[in-house]
Amino acid sequence: MSSLFHNYARRPLSIVKGQGTVVEDDSGKSYLDFTSGIAVTNLGHSHPAIIDVLHRQSEKLWHISNLFDSPEQEKLADALVSDSPLSHAFFCNSGTEANEAAIKLARKHTKKSVIITCEQSFHGRTFGAMSATGQEKIKQGFGPLLESFRHVPFNQLDALEEAVDETVAAIMIEVIQGEGGVHVINKAFAEKVQSICHDKDILLIIDEVQTGISRTGSRYAFEQFELEPDIVTLAKGLGNGFPIGAMLGSAKLFDSFGPGTHGTTFGGNPLAVSVAQKVTELAFDPSFIQQVNDKGTLLKELVSPLLNNSSVKEIRGTGLLLGIELTSEVSSIVKQAEQAGLLLVPAGSHVIRLLPPLTVTREELISASTILNDLILSKVSIDS
Ligand SMILES: *Cc1c(COP(=O)(O)O)cnc(C)c1O
Repeated sequence: MSSLFHNYARRPLSIVKGQGTVVEDDSGKSYLDFTSGIAVTNLGHSHPAIIDVLHRQSEKLWHISNLFDSPEQEKLADALVSDSPLSHAFFCNSGTEANEAAIKLARKHTKKSVIITCEQSFHGRTFGAMSATGQEKIKQGFGPLLESFRHVPFNQLDALEEAVDETVAAIMIEVIQGEGGVHVINKAFAEKVQSICHDKDILLIIDEVQTGISRTGSRYAFEQFELEPDIVTLAKGLGNGFPIGAMLGSAKLFDSFGPGTHGTTFGGNPLAVSVAQKVTELAFDPSFIQQVNDKGTLLKELVSPLLNNSSVKEIRGTGLLLGIELTSEVSSIVKQAEQAGLLLVPAGSHVIRLLPPLTVTREELISASTILNDLILSKVSIDS
C-alpha cells in the first residue's frame, strides 16, 4: 500500500526529467508535454535563463520573511501591474491563497460579505476559495462551507442581474473557465459584469490563476475584453514551476490591507521572486506574446479537421489554452495519447485540454496534433 494519501487519481507514469516541451519517464521514453503541469511550466522545462536566476539567488539568500523591506518584491510587483488598472501586489504561494486574499480584501474593503461567482468555476481548495467554486464535486463532504457565495450560470446575463443586490461585495470570474471545461466568457457577459460593478460600486475580481502570464495570448486574459478588474489573482504560470501566487489590487484598495491585516511566512520568498521576475520579463515581451498568438492560431488550425467528425462537438479557447469537447468521455483518448507519446490533461469528463508550454515549437505542435487527430478519428471508426 502507498504511503501517500490517494487524493489524486495518479497515472502510472513517473516523469524524471524535462527539456522544453519534452519530458522523459524512468524507462527513458519521451513525451510531448501538453499539460505544462496544468498551465504552470509556460516557458518549458529546464529553461536556461530561469535555472540561472534560481541558481544565483540560491547562493545569495533563500528566505528572510516579510519583516523586512523587499526591493525585489517591489520590482516584481511593478512588472505585474504596469499598464493595467492594478497598482499593488501581495505575494503568496498558490492560486487558492491568492483567492483567499482576494476574498478577504473584498470583504474588508466593502464591509459587505456576498460574492457572486459562476457555476462550473474553479477557484481553489481552501475553505474560502472552495466555497467560491461553482462545482459541487469539489465541495462534497466538506460542509458547512463559507457563507454568502452566490453562484450564477456563466455567460447568462439575466441570472447575474437577479443575483445583484446591496449586500454584494464583489463579482468573481474567470475569463476562461479552465477546470470547468475551457469555456470562454462572451463579450456581452463581460460587458454586463463590468457595467454592474461600475454602476453599483461592486468590486470585480478576476481569477487569472490559469489564464494569466500570457497563456491566452495577452499578459492577462481580461485584456482581451472591456474589463477593468479591481483585483486579479495569479499563480500557476508565474513561477514556471517554482511555487508563487499573487493578488494584484487597484489603488483604492491600498488602505484596506494595512499592516497586520493579512500575511504569509513564505509569500514573496526571494527564490520565488527571482524566478517570477525572469518569467515576467520573458513572458510579457510583446514579440513573445505575438508568437503565443500565432502558435495558438496554428494549433487551432491543425486540430480543425476534427470538427468535421461527429464525435467532436466544439473546439474552444484562445492562445495556448484550448479545449476540444467530445461527445463521449475523453479518458481513453488521454490514455492512448500517453502511449503514443503525448501528455494531455482533461478539463472535466468530455473536454481534452491542450496546454503546451508557450515556448512550444511549430514542429511539436504538428507532431502533437497528428497524434491527437489520428487517435480521435480512428477511435470513431472503431466505435462505429
Ligand atoms: C488552479 C487554479 C486555482 C487554484 O490554484 P492552486 O495553486 O492549485 O491553489 C484557482 N483558480 C483557477 C482558475 C485555477 O485554474
